[in-house]
Amino acid sequence: MQKEILFYSTNLKVPSVTFKEALLKGQAPDKGLYMPEIIPVIPEKEINDFYGMEYPEIAYEISKRFVLGDVPENILKEIVRDAYNYPVPLENVYENKWVMRLDQGPTASFKDFAARMMGRLMQYFLKLNNEKLLILTATSGDTGSAIANAFYKLNNIKVVVLFPLKEVTGRQRKQMTTLGNNIQIISVDGKFDDCQALVKKAFSDKELDYLSLSSANSINIGRLIPQIVYYFYSFAKLRKEKSADVIFSVPSGNFGDMMGGMIAKKMGLPVKKFIISTNENDEFPAFLNTGVYNKIEPSKNCISSAMNVGHPSNLARVVSLYGGNMDEKGVIHENPDMKKMREDIFSVSITDKKTKEIIKSAFEEYKLLLEPHGAVGWGGLHEFLKQNKEYNNKEQLCISLETAHPAKFPETITELLNIDPVLPESLKGLENKPEDYMQMNNDYEEFKKILIKKY
Ligand SMILES: *Cc1c(COP(=O)(O)O)cnc(C)c1O
Repeated sequence: MQKEILFYSTNLKVPSVTFKEALLKGQAPDKGLYMPEIIPVIPEKEINDFYGMEYPEIAYEISKRFVLGDVPENILKEIVRDAYNYPVPLENVYENKWVMRLDQGPTASFKDFAARMMGRLMQYFLKLNNEKLLILTATSGDTGSAIANAFYKLNNIKVVVLFPLKEVTGRQRKQMTTLGNNIQIISVDGKFDDCQALVKKAFSDKELDYLSLSSANSINIGRLIPQIVYYFYSFAKLRKEKSADVIFSVPSGNFGDMMGGMIAKKMGLPVKKFIISTNENDEFPAFLNTGVYNKIEPSKNCISSAMNVGHPSNLARVVSLYGGNMDEKGVIHENPDMKKMREDIFSVSITDKKTKEIIKSAFEEYKLLLEPHGAVGWGGLHEFLKQNKEYNNKEQLCISLETAHPAKFPETITELLNIDPVLPESLKGLENKPEDYMQMNNDYEEFKKILIKKY
């Protein structure tokens, strides 16, 4: 048995904790992010053995290395089987260039991978001690529905999602409001930032301590570990020979997805390069270029809306991985090894105009159907191959991540391609299901009253 891995805070001001504590806390008390003290390296032979394994088996092999001190083997096996009950298609586009579709989960977004696993791990720990948790989350659309669906009908956990009434699409709303059971959805007559402010205020309200509030947000370590898995999975499925290596392109916003990939590389996955593609929020490509970090405030509104992020919340983890130190405000206290970072990562910003061109040309040339986020990833890969001819050959395995289903963006797809993308099973029939949600003003006292009355 390996030693249990502890998790340190990137702000380095509090002691390290076990996986269980990091998972249930979310953010460290010093406002840092939890990171594993040791990143376990998987022997090459075991990585070779992943070939032929199914997704849940590989998910078990990866996550056991981080959580087995706290979660028994049989429980972990059950959790991954239950969480990953949907396919992960790998689509060949041309030569050895592939798109991995992470869009077959219940909300047709890659966030299902992380949310489903995190929810089940939380449920396990809570049941064990007969504890309860009330998850509060604010959403601009996608995160809320992924969390609501992932936690639906789990025991010992209730979920409250706040969304801005006028800022989410009808389909996004219905993905949350047709569930019921342990999921309470509340619309706020305000903007996303107002919803977030209400949630934050509740977290710091001592009178609500008795509710055991938690956030399940994107910085939770329980969301990061599941995002390591699909990098190993796709490589196992697509490698042709023992000496193969791979280039991944990851459309990025808060950098949780790419962080999973970076950890996979540290664990021994032979990744030659990560292409980190952003939309017009180009704070990271600029940082990688110049070594100087400037947030973008406010963030720019692009069509790849889930990546409209002016300061990626996982960036402190990336900096930490390269020996540097960045606090929660984005201030760098110790510089990371930029040279090493540039060896591992190529980063590029793709404009909305370019994103639309990519959606069109990918479909015309290859019958490849992309939505705006996946198009940013696909475009970034080709920008890299154009600038780096030494990587541009037929054999080189390249995998670009598609993070949402094209049918979630019907207006864009129809406008550009003149087709109506077919809905995945998970999104079908939503129109006919009854909706149930509360409506609220942008008023903290009203929110607090609802929480106290209901829970
Ligand atoms: C959240 C999201 C992203 C960005 O992922 P990060 O981990 O925040 O970088 C990309 N695409 C879609 C569809 C998303 O929902």
